[in-house]
Amino acid sequence: MTNPILIIGGGLGGLTAALALARQGQPVRVLEGAPAFGAIGYGIQFGPNVFHALDRIGVSDAVLEKADSPPAVLMIDALNGKEVTRVPTGPSLRARFKYPYIIIHRVDLHNVMLDACRRDPLVTLEADAMVSRFADHGDRVSVTTEDGRSFEGTALIGADGIRSRTRAQLFADGDPLPNGFIAFRTIVPMSDVKAEIQRDIVALWAGPGFHIVHYPLRHGTLFNIVAVFRRSAHSERGDVAAYRAELEDVYRDAHPARLHCRRKWRLRSGLPALRKRPPAAHRARHARIPLHVGRLPCGRRHSRSVLADARRTKRSGHLPVPLLAL
Ligand SMILES: Cc1cc2nc3c(=O)[nH]c(=O)nc-3n(C[C@H](O)[C@H](O)[C@H](O)COP(=O)(O)OP(=O)(O)OC[C@H]3O[C@@H](n4cnc5c(N)ncnc54)[C@H](O)[C@@H]3O)c2cc1C
Repeated sequence: MTNPILIIGGGLGGLTAALALARQGQPVRVLEGAPAFGAIGYGIQFGPNVFHALDRIGVSDAVLEKADSPPAVLMIDALNGKEVTRVPTGPSLRARFKYPYIIIHRVDLHNVMLDACRRDPLVTLEADAMVSRFADHGDRVSVTTEDGRSFEGTALIGADGIRSRTRAQLFADGDPLPNGFIAFRTIVPMSDVKAEIQRDIVALWAGPGFHIVHYPLRHGTLFNIVAVFRRSAHSERGDVAAYRAELEDVYRDAHPARLHCRRKWRLRSGLPALRKRPPAAHRARHARIPLHVGRLPCGRRHSRSVLADARRTKRSGHLPVPLLAL
């Protein structure tokens, strides 16, 4: 077999790159630092455009089997509970864009990719291979792992996440910078969800400096919740009491339905939302933070303009770009 292309990192990016190259007849070797390939799991949403890529790597049907397609995405004013706008994401969206809008458990998505890689003889998966450095030899590249092994390839792709060592070695441009927002996320059994909470749709409760998103997962058996808000400092990681106090404070003016939801369920797994500098020149350096923060900035001023756009939308019946990107 010819020398493979080396891919550092077996996350969604690394496995997608592996499948894309293998489908072109190119052998690849994916080096994953964790003891086993796997994903942490919460919800993820995709617009229909993702299927162009999924089709090309041959996983659309498997993804659709695991995914759900909500009938609508709702934006709700988090202060008074009133619906601001409703974007239909059911059959009419599918008819217009050919593919559905989907919500899927990240673990399920990752497993679909992983299964496809395992079935492809051109993909070699190496777990427990934490890469510490690479070396460019001109006609080939080599990498060294923390346990002293080395691997050679014709080229190298760094898909090693937000704290990429590959990137650090290439550009030495420092750690990711906080962008001022933080996300808390949780998944609860659907049976725990109160009857008055709409469960089949994607709901975005938008307020000044914060938003909350919830939607069902795994064919309605789980309920995914993400709370995103602006903050000036990070609580110590793992300090649950401080996290909770912070949530209580941020959402103190939110509509009672949200308060109820927040009090009943402990949101967990703080995900610091990071951004690296400079934003325009190096988009690949941005941590993708869940859902809408990157696309719908939720500072007080921005929230207002988003809400205003949404209201105009409701009147005109015309979808603004940010809502299409939800
Ligand atoms: C809860 C959540 C919800 C999200 N929701 C959405 C959404 O709705 N829509 C959307 O578009 N995006 C969403 N995202 C963002 C999206 O999931 C990420 O952008 C994507 O997972 C990034 O993929 P990646 O492969 O670049 O990095 P990662 O998934 O972080 O994978 C990097 C991999 O590299 C490995 N690694 C790291 N360093 C090394 C090393 N030195 N050697 C070997 N291996 C290494 C890691 O172990 C890891 O497996 C969400 C993210 C989260 C966490």
